Amino acid sequence: MSEDAAAKDVWAEFFGLLPPVADQDPEEPRRRGLFSRLREGLTRPRQAISPQLAGIFEGKLVEESSWEDLEDALIGADCGVDATTELVSYLRDETAQGRIVGGRQLAKALWQRIAVEMGEEAPSIALGHGPTVILVVGVNGSGTTTTVGKLAHRVVIGAADTFRAAAIEQLAVWAERSGAQLVRQAHGADPGAVAYDAVAAGRARGADVVLIDTAGRLQTQRNLMDELKKVAGVVSKVDPTAPHEVLLVLDATTGQNGLSQAALFAEAAGVTGVVLTKVDGTAKGGIVVAIRRQLGIPVKIIGTGETLDDLQPFESRAFAEAIFSPER
Ligand code: GDP
Repeated sequence: MSEDAAAKDVWAEFFGLLPPVADQDPEEPRRRGLFSRLREGLTRPRQAISPQLAGIFEGKLVEESSWEDLEDALIGADCGVDATTELVSYLRDETAQGRIVGGRQLAKALWQRIAVEMGEEAPSIALGHGPTVILVVGVNGSGTTTTVGKLAHRVVIGAADTFRAAAIEQLAVWAERSGAQLVRQAHGADPGAVAYDAVAAGRARGADVVLIDTAGRLQTQRNLMDELKKVAGVVSKVDPTAPHEVLLVLDATTGQNGLSQAALFAEAAGVTGVVLTKVDGTAKGGIVVAIRRQLGIPVKIIGTGETLDDLQPFESRAFAEAIFSPER
């Protein structure tokens, strides 16, 4: 598939699996619409850093003192020390070489370099596994159930967080809203059994995607990581190639603290991508830069609110521009 076709496909219109689109090519306005929605969702992180950046970008020449201010701003936005040091040294070098002259050019170079840091390639979720099985993991409260709910267009959902009392009911409401098929058992049931049923149902019904919500904490002393491994093992009994994706839901407002947690999941559950939730509620938009650098896992999806529409495939350039390009 050409890059262009792949880009248009963006995961079969983000699992809506390509409802018919009007003939006249509305791609441009639609993309612009998406970008302004993204900007809106990222108002809080942008406003947190914008005044500091605006001060730095004001001058015709880049002052020596600007570098320290820029470093403070990026650390404050949670980009992490490593990435910040590298970003500043790159920009400093470009300025010394005369490739960046003045604040305006520095402003553009900053967000573009951040996009590079976050990974320029568009994240992929390969559909077409008949069904693609996606295990969704994350600690309690990070937004796992909400994310599965938002993702639930035309898919089968397995309610395998059988530990948290409200999780199954919450998913039932989301499934009703989006028309997804919910596979559930009673509260306290074996999550592996629910996952098995969900994948089997997905196969039987010819679903394109099966999403499995998992527990983020257990009432018993049993180890959560062992439980997740078990669920993944059960799923692979139905389809040896599954799970095809393991998405870790991470709450952006937990900042750097969330990263050590993420490392644990990455190791135990074989995480293939991050869903970063609550980006609308954080001043620390740079966390994506830190995730990429410290965990080497791509952010694939971001959540910027509590409704069905507030979930988007992650695009590093749009994200970097929306946060790190100061208010116009
Ligand atoms: P779980 O324990 O991981 O399943 O967490 P839930 O899905 O129950 O979510 C916890 C809370 O976070 C709920 O109040 C959600 O509405 C909220 N939430 C989830 N995603 C987002 C998001 O992207 N933005 C905001 N503002 N809230 C979110």
